[in-house]
Amino acid sequence: MFKEKSLNTTQIETLGEFGLIEHLTQDFNIKNASSIFGIGDDAAVIDISEKLQLVSTDLLVEGVHFNLSYTPLKHLGYKAVAVNVSDICAMNGDAKQITIGIAVSNRFSVEALEELYKGIKLACEKYNVDLVGGDTTSSTTGLMISVTALGEVKKENITYRSGAKTNDLLVCTGDLGAAYLGLQLLNRENEIFKDNPKIQPDLTGHDYVLMRQLKPEAPTKYIKILKELDIVPTSMIDISDGLSSELLHISKSSNVGLTIHEDKIPIDYTAMNLANDFKLNPITCALSGGEDYELLFTISQKHYDKLKTDPDFTIIGFVTDFSEGNNFIASDGSSHMLIAQGWDNTKK
Ligand code: ADP
Ligand code: MG
Repeated sequence: MFKEKSLNTTQIETLGEFGLIEHLTQDFNIKNASSIFGIGDDAAVIDISEKLQLVSTDLLVEGVHFNLSYTPLKHLGYKAVAVNVSDICAMNGDAKQITIGIAVSNRFSVEALEELYKGIKLACEKYNVDLVGGDTTSSTTGLMISVTALGEVKKENITYRSGAKTNDLLVCTGDLGAAYLGLQLLNRENEIFKDNPKIQPDLTGHDYVLMRQLKPEAPTKYIKILKELDIVPTSMIDISDGLSSELLHISKSSNVGLTIHEDKIPIDYTAMNLANDFKLNPITCALSGGEDYELLFTISQKHYDKLKTDPDFTIIGFVTDFSEGNNFIASDGSSHMLIAQGWDNTKK
């Protein structure tokens, strides 16, 4: 890592635009019945039958959303797909198709784009989605990737941010804060490397946080479990910007208050240790870190027994009346106001 991989360098011009598209997409197979026609015409054709069609787009820009000095292109391709699939999950749906737009500067070779598409293909296989189209153009500045994910959901299962009800339970999946700590670690080692390229990065023992940052997974398995348990959340959002900002989105959209308990927030122990090394509060990393791609949702209390013993799901709080506001109950029992960046340090 941190060292430019010595890829063979075939100039993109040698293939031309159509040749390049054909070359990059030739190994992709269509898997879903709803993908009627993919790459090769003016538009892809999707059969949406009686379900609701979900559509979500993300644009990733080099230097803003990713740093290629420590992000392998294959991981970047995987992540670009995973974060879009995550948005479809957050509506309680199944992702079925993606389209990919790329803008590339002549700094990139055909082999570099092959790496990107290897990651895209891996994610397509993992999440059972079909690559059905895209667009390819040149850029003067760097790499840009725009991914659009298409998904479907039965009308009775659609889950918005806006359906949380007073007394519902507030649940989150997996654990939080690790992706942010992975980024801190990569940035620190990258700075050391820039100052002295002879010093090799020391990333040993940090597999989990690095994986959470570089190769995040979309929360498809939780959507499957919820379906099996016959639970339709009353509201849901994916945790891309940090727990506290997602809580405020649900609060605002649903017109409710939310209360969470500090000692319930799930944090992986290796992330906890790394936060201590960085002299960061692990709870702050969970609340304002971002990029964890877990799900935050609310459920009716009648479902409590179905989820209470599953370690994948943590009940972190509950829904109140809007008038009670959004509250963070610290481990010492004190109550604080939740704000987008975490919580207000002054006691109420
Ligand atoms: P048009 O001129 O109609 O926009 P293009 O030549 O851009 O068509 O694309 C030809 C076909 O290849 C279309 O089906 C398009 O969706 C697909 N495509 C173009 N670029 C990409 C890409 N980067 N990844 C996947 N499919 C692509
Ligand atoms: Mg085009």
